[in-house]
Amino acid sequence: MKPLIKIKYDKLKYVEYISYKSMEKHFDFGYSLLNFICANIKETINNSDDVVKELENLSENDDYFIFNVFYSDEIKRQLENPTLDNAEKDRRIKKILDYMEKTQLTFSTIIDFCFLYNADVTGYDRGIDRFIFICNKLNYAISQPKYTFATFDINKQDKLNIKDVDFETLDKEYIDFKLNNRNLNRFDGASYTCDSIDEFFSICMLTIFDRHYIISRCKNCGKLFVPCKKNDALYCDRISPQKDTKTCKQYASKKPKGVQELYRKIYLKKIARVNRNKDNYTLKNEFETWKTQADKLKADLSNNIITDDDFEKWLLENDK
Ligand SMILES: [Zn+2]
Repeated sequence: MKPLIKIKYDKLKYVEYISYKSMEKHFDFGYSLLNFICANIKETINNSDDVVKELENLSENDDYFIFNVFYSDEIKRQLENPTLDNAEKDRRIKKILDYMEKTQLTFSTIIDFCFLYNADVTGYDRGIDRFIFICNKLNYAISQPKYTFATFDINKQDKLNIKDVDFETLDKEYIDFKLNNRNLNRFDGASYTCDSIDEFFSICMLTIFDRHYIISRCKNCGKLFVPCKKNDALYCDRISPQKDTKTCKQYASKKPKGVQELYRKIYLKKIARVNRNKDNYTLKNEFETWKTQADKLKADLSNNIITDDDFEKWLLENDK
């Protein structure tokens, strides 16, 4: 049987609600998918002496929620299959994990191309066309999940046979539904039913484009995240690898900033100006030249070729 999850997005709270079997989970928008893409699952399972126990551990960790839904049960089924010898079990599990790894790679490649490759320059073009283009190039089919209203249980409805459609009855049912759900905002109330990880990926990506969100890589832990409230946020809300009482964002805000902060301020000012004047290619070229030079100096700074003072001086001289 295929796994079946229902997903609903809360636009105001930047939260996604996922129900699976009898479980109800909620995540900050995008984290369920991106945690799956960033996780080193194949290696964890391959290095484990006891796969059953490892799967149990993973099932308790919400970071692995998507793995648990779409892969874990399938692996367990192979392990529990009495007709298979150990070598055959291993072979089948390896196949599932290889396929999963390929899926992770496909998703991360698509995201890299849409949002992260040359992000400062291609920031002008983070549209859905870029998504469709890379999917086509990878021969990856975008699969739409079933879409419905949150209050409308698609499985409990009488389904119509195309030969029995009676518009009058249908229209009455529709009007009843509208009357009973007068306050429902169509988009916020929508929910999706996914029976494959590809459907889940597609709806997450389409929602990102629909809402003009982006995907970034956290400058502290290196994992992917959707900065919903502020597209230029640098740090995610995961627990930071350095301190388990703080998120990456909280950890980073305690670090001294100095010249990096100055760079960031000037950078944001410049890119905002470019974005406001999309047809001004001179401005765009000037920005790109500035960015190339700034990147070079930043690298020199981290290699101790120049000092903080040198970089600050250059930033101030080139801030116009
Ligand atoms: Zn982080």
